[in-house]
Amino acid sequence: MIVIGGGLAGLAAGVALAESGWRVRLFEQRPFLGGRATSYVLPDGEHVDNCQHVTLGCCTNLADFYARVGSADKIKFFDRLFFLDPQGRRGEIQAGIFPAPFHMTGSFAAFAPLTLRDKLSIARAMLDILRTQGKPADLEESGGLSMFEWLSRRGQTPGAIERFWRVVLVSALDEELDRTDARFGVDVFWKAFLSNRTGYRMGVPAVPLANLYAGCKMEIERRGGEVVLRAPVRGLKIENGEIAGVRFDEGKEETADSYVFAVPHTALAELLPESVKQADPSLANLDKIKVSPITGVHFWFDRQVMKEPFVTLLDTTTQWVFNKTALYGDSNGASRSVQGGQYLQLVISASYDLLQKPRQEIIDLCLNEVRHAFPAARQAELVKATVIKEAAATFSPEPGVDRWRPKQESSVRGLFLAGDWTATGWPATMEGAVRSGYLAAEAVLRSNGTPRKFLQPDLEPDGFVGMWIGKSAQEKN
Ligand SMILES: Cc1cc2nc3c(=O)[nH]c(=O)nc-3n(C[C@H](O)[C@H](O)[C@H](O)COP(=O)(O)OP(=O)(O)OC[C@H]3O[C@@H](n4cnc5c(N)ncnc54)[C@H](O)[C@@H]3O)c2cc1C
Repeated sequence: MIVIGGGLAGLAAGVALAESGWRVRLFEQRPFLGGRATSYVLPDGEHVDNCQHVTLGCCTNLADFYARVGSADKIKFFDRLFFLDPQGRRGEIQAGIFPAPFHMTGSFAAFAPLTLRDKLSIARAMLDILRTQGKPADLEESGGLSMFEWLSRRGQTPGAIERFWRVVLVSALDEELDRTDARFGVDVFWKAFLSNRTGYRMGVPAVPLANLYAGCKMEIERRGGEVVLRAPVRGLKIENGEIAGVRFDEGKEETADSYVFAVPHTALAELLPESVKQADPSLANLDKIKVSPITGVHFWFDRQVMKEPFVTLLDTTTQWVFNKTALYGDSNGASRSVQGGQYLQLVISASYDLLQKPRQEIIDLCLNEVRHAFPAARQAELVKATVIKEAAATFSPEPGVDRWRPKQESSVRGLFLAGDWTATGWPATMEGAVRSGYLAAEAVLRSNGTPRKFLQPDLEPDGFVGMWIGKSAQEKN
């Protein structure tokens, strides 16, 4: 078995197949594992994540994957989400004493950055999601419906859109509301905020991202396989409609019984021969899947400037500020260069406007916002800063995008696909990537006549929602 790509999709497929007794050889072009969800060392010795990554309680497959590879204890979960607007009004979202779907009612009612009108309009839309169990009828409109249109149809106030829906969804889905399929947007609220009490809990790695994957290599090697880094695949050999090998530099070739390609869709489109794209309509449209950017800004201050582990800023270019010093704790030495100082990582999703801006301009803009939000930062010295722009951070969840996402099993015998962009039903997330890897492993095992399940179920609805769904299921039977 050959797996190409050492991102989460390839690692999940590789680990699942190794556990099923296959000898897995995984080839990754870069010198480290983790793909987009990784970290590296800057020339001055500082460990930085490619960008801050977070997970949610509803990401059941990612949790399963971390548990399999011994990394579950490196993720810290938080029950409280903090928000701050430019007027200094703070808001917190957390589950209170009531069962789902009313568990957030208390913190939502007290949420200062929203007006009563905003809240009533949000409550109405939430009721619609709840009533339809996350599947409002208009989501099925052909070609897809944008989230912005879905919200407009439900009379959402400008404040509700800007300070609530946009804040949650642009970070969760990396796209503006008018370019997001409402199906993804509604799903976020159903799975993370309404159907159960724990789906919204935010998990943040307490170590640099690359430190989460050592267990994958061990698991693959323990079963007789290997992980080969700095090994870019340059082409596929197709013979008689089946894949007969992969080509590397210097004319090297490797062969196997089956191949899982877990590379980004743009890379696969370049690798696939034209004949394959023409023969398989699901592989002919990869170029229709667009991408959207994320920008990460890293600040090292000479002193502590914020207390919270992370804060969402409202009405600013900066969307999230993560307090890496607090998240890493002492053990990981948050920074080599600012002992006693503080390392912050800022995230701006769907950062189209920043792509062309010079780095210094982005630093100045974000520094101003941080100094406005956290008064202690006004006296602090910014020791150093860096900006990491990822122009193709995720695939864009635009309306109707699912029709271009191929299944994990292809029409070419022996060729399987994985990657957050394949058909998982999920947006481009670590959870989506792991799901795709598990689905690819299941497809390989099925085609080999040894089926096995890896995909984990979603979180069970709980509280009143669980009772209500259980009752309506009974009535249907
Ligand atoms: C800036 C940023 C922030 C993000 N934030 C979050 C977040 O907070 N939460 C979340 O859930 N998701 C987040 N994501 C999305 C998440 O990182 C991805 O959905 C996920 O990591 C994709 O995994 P993958 O394995 O499908 O693809 P990738 O991670 O892209 O892995 C593909 C791998 O294939 C390798 N490869 C490519 N071509 C070849 C070749 N020819 N030969 C060999 N190897 C090859 C690549 O080097 C790479 O390692 C973020 C992404 C970015 C970029």
